[in-house]
Amino acid sequence: MTGVAQGAAAADGSSWHTIEVDLGERGYPVRIGAGVRHTLPEVIARIGARKAVVVSARPGAWTPDPGVEALHIAARDGERHKTLAWVEELCVCFAQFGLTRSDVVVSCGGGTTTDAVGLAAALYHRGVPVVHLPTSLLAQVDASVGGKTAVNLPQGKNLIGAYWQPRAVLCDTDYLTTLPQRERINGYGEIARCHFIGAGDLRGLGTAEQIAASVARKAQIVSLDERDAGLRHLLNYGHTLGHALERATDFALRHGEAVAVGTVFAGRLAGALGRIGPERVAEHLDVVRHYGLPTELPAGVSTGELVALARLDKKATRGLAFVLDGPAGAELVSGVPAETVAAVLDAMPRRATAGAPAR
Ligand code: NAD
Repeated sequence: MTGVAQGAAAADGSSWHTIEVDLGERGYPVRIGAGVRHTLPEVIARIGARKAVVVSARPGAWTPDPGVEALHIAARDGERHKTLAWVEELCVCFAQFGLTRSDVVVSCGGGTTTDAVGLAAALYHRGVPVVHLPTSLLAQVDASVGGKTAVNLPQGKNLIGAYWQPRAVLCDTDYLTTLPQRERINGYGEIARCHFIGAGDLRGLGTAEQIAASVARKAQIVSLDERDAGLRHLLNYGHTLGHALERATDFALRHGEAVAVGTVFAGRLAGALGRIGPERVAEHLDVVRHYGLPTELPAGVSTGELVALARLDKKATRGLAFVLDGPAGAELVSGVPAETVAAVLDAMPRRATAGAPAR
């Protein structure tokens, strides 16, 4: 059963959160808290692996000992290294090390690392166990949980991928102490959208509790729709415009920042369509602003360009489609008139100048 449980006591006496992703025999725990990375040997012992390949984008001191014979590989992180060539290189290393299907791969890094290493684990020997140690806030609340793995092509992001559920995810909040401020705020973009997809109001909670609540909601949704056939669209709240903004700014806007602006837009669009009242529209702005995220459209991006990019969204199979709040909560709304989308975009504040996003 998906849900948040207090876990075993951590070294400092505080307790970890454990969320079970309920996928039957492919189910797994997500542990969240300070120091949880040190439970890696216990997790690997449970898997029964004799050998591990640890692919880490963090300095050696942050990579826990897996407790079995291990090959350590320094990860090349960032979007431009999320390639099939990197996945192939990893698989060659796995083979040279003699990794078998009963061994384990460990990823340690942000979402670009968990995505690429997750895909390598999915493909090598048609699938070897993988454990993720996400180190960015975005990877802890989103990328490492749910089993989507992918790399990019020059033609677009995440075009080659597979569903491959990890055997465990260890979200150590100690990792966040070295995270640059902009990356931290970027992660809050995914936490902010959780407010509108059933996670409740997470403002005022501690970081570990915010991560746990966001992961619990994602786990619930994934356990009901692992392969994105319907309900999983909810996780794309704020993402249709968000993805369009990322592309229109040539990725100058970080993913979470773009989703934040997309969330404000989603509130305004739901209001324009009469699905929610003005107070709920204003709540979108309040929540996004609370987390220090940008709320305005960036400079130099036209409404026409954004509408055209929104038409390329994978959900836009019957006209423009957005996940929108409404009387029954958030749901996918298809066939949204382009004129309404354009009018809502035209009415949104825009940054006067280019550069770092306004908060
Ligand atoms: P990232 O891996 O590029 O990390 C962002 C930056 O933070 C990098 O510069 C990295 O070196 C740095 N960093 C990470 N952890 C750090 C730490 N503890 N201390 C200091 N610096 C640290 O990107 P990201 O924002 O973590 O993740 C974005 C990626 O995740 C995208 O490629 C996106 O497609 C993917 N994603 C996947 C899913 C999924 O379901 N699979 C969901 C959301 C996002």
